[in-house]
Amino acid sequence: MDQLPKCGANHVALTPLTFLKRANSVYATRTSIIYENTRFTWSQTYQRCRRLASSLLSLNIHKNNVVSVLAPNIPAMYEMHFAVPMAGAVLNTLNARLDAKNVATLLRHSEAKVFFVDYQYVPVAREALRLLMAHSQQNPSLIPLVIVIDDIDSPTGVRLGELEYEQLIQMGDPKFVPAEIQDEWDPISLNYTSGTTSEPKGVVYSHRGAYLSTLSLVLGWQMGVEPVYLWSLPMFHCNGWTFTWGVAARGGTNVCIRNTTAYDIYRNIAAHKVTHLCCAPIIFNILIEAKPHERHEITSPVQVLTGGAPPPASLLGKMEFLGFHVTHAYGLTEATGPALVCEWQAKWNSLPRDSQARLKARQGISILTLADVDVKNIESMESVPHDGKTMGEIVLRGSSIMKGYLKDPEATSKAFKDGWFITGDVGVIHTDGYLEIKDRSKDVIISGGENISSVELESVLYGHPRVLEAAVVAMPHTRWGESPCAFLAVRENECGVKDDVTEADIIAYCRKNLPHFMVPKKVEFVAQLPKTSTGKIQKFQLRALAKTFQVTETKSTEVNNQVTPDHDHHILALSRL
Ligand code: ADP
Repeated sequence: MDQLPKCGANHVALTPLTFLKRANSVYATRTSIIYENTRFTWSQTYQRCRRLASSLLSLNIHKNNVVSVLAPNIPAMYEMHFAVPMAGAVLNTLNARLDAKNVATLLRHSEAKVFFVDYQYVPVAREALRLLMAHSQQNPSLIPLVIVIDDIDSPTGVRLGELEYEQLIQMGDPKFVPAEIQDEWDPISLNYTSGTTSEPKGVVYSHRGAYLSTLSLVLGWQMGVEPVYLWSLPMFHCNGWTFTWGVAARGGTNVCIRNTTAYDIYRNIAAHKVTHLCCAPIIFNILIEAKPHERHEITSPVQVLTGGAPPPASLLGKMEFLGFHVTHAYGLTEATGPALVCEWQAKWNSLPRDSQARLKARQGISILTLADVDVKNIESMESVPHDGKTMGEIVLRGSSIMKGYLKDPEATSKAFKDGWFITGDVGVIHTDGYLEIKDRSKDVIISGGENISSVELESVLYGHPRVLEAAVVAMPHTRWGESPCAFLAVRENECGVKDDVTEADIIAYCRKNLPHFMVPKKVEFVAQLPKTSTGKIQKFQLRALAKTFQVTETKSTEVNNQVTPDHDHHILALSRL
């Protein structure tokens, strides 16, 4: 054995780019992309990507240069997931809801050489470039080349420079053969964290990590050949949890949509017989609450992969009732999207529906290609017992974990300890080895020395028939240090009235369903909760508001809610959302 070379002719770098080449050779005539009236086949997609890659090279794009994109889920966004790395460059998909200042900051930080902008985002991009120019002291080498992506179905003619995306495709060489990836650890994409807990950081994925994650998710979700995949999850979010590459791996059809509305989701499911979609749990509410004219009946089950935030067990049941079959995953930008999947076991099929929903609400077990997942005491790095009770930090190891944060060695080294990536999430491991998240470490509420999981409390609140959205954060408390404060958006009753639900109703409901120390000491009703573009509730905003509440205890069970002057200002800000 020892005489054989460590790796010889069999050494080929792992990269998801091979999925496109394979789709072209075996699924050439199958539909690759549908976007309103536009259709492409896999052979056309392959050719368009080769053309685009060759055009990028002729624009002087070099290995490891960053190419940024600000666009919704349109065909061009999909194509760039292959074309940009085929040119040796690194794809940076920007969050389409960022404002000009943030876009400018990320363009500057990433040193993007080319900036693709969908025609709808031209005003934001124009302002971002103005800010970038001002900041770069008019140094043109720091300003990316801008290319507008016009609507492929009905071109608008909007421009922000000389070139348009389709022109670049036409100019490109259809026979271009991309250089083979030599090192699978080379960067393939750069994804900025959404900044729920801190400033956005630039997470760098490798070809190897992206390849392995894609395979894991295709397997973990049991995605067979020829799926019809609806793009309800933004492609800018962790490269669409790797399904940008994954749909090519299965020779599937990508159904692109510009807007994630109930109408567009139901309409496209019905029109194209969608079999799979991914979304944050927040989309469940959009689908469940859709008005009759927005709905289409789901005639065969649609597989839904959800994650990014805890899906309340009560919503899981409602989704299944509508015809969606939900699989639950957990992950984060730094782990190339999902790192755990709640793999379903056949023996659970015979359990009552609510027990099934509770099992499914757990975050699950490691995806196949991750080396290890654990929950540890972060000081001693000792694993917690598998008792479903002892909390610790969720830690991950394996090739799908990011290479590091771009230009931030300090944050990169802080993110790892003893070879483990520290997620910043707090969880438990159940006796069957399934992991359940209890909170982000920053969100745990410590009341009188007792840890209260906001996730647990929220899942009870979602069980209340009138609760539409719930978020619980810590609020200062004179006696307990911190106590839970619940922010709720409620749904209307049959008469279209919302304000008949009171704080006392909610507190009484919680007292029935929770240990008393966990019951929120204050309930605040808002029109809707503040969210990031990826559907995460922005708890830092709610925490800031809760800090203005001063709760003092009078008797053991009664509280006085006093409010400081800042409070009205914050409530006003929230009601404008
Ligand atoms: P950001 O950290 O900037 O919000 P991410 O998209 O990387 O951006 O968010 C990852 C975080 O989302 C995880 O650390 C975790 O707190 C939360 N999360 C992801 N999936 C789940 C899930 N299935 N259940 C509960 N929380 C989740």
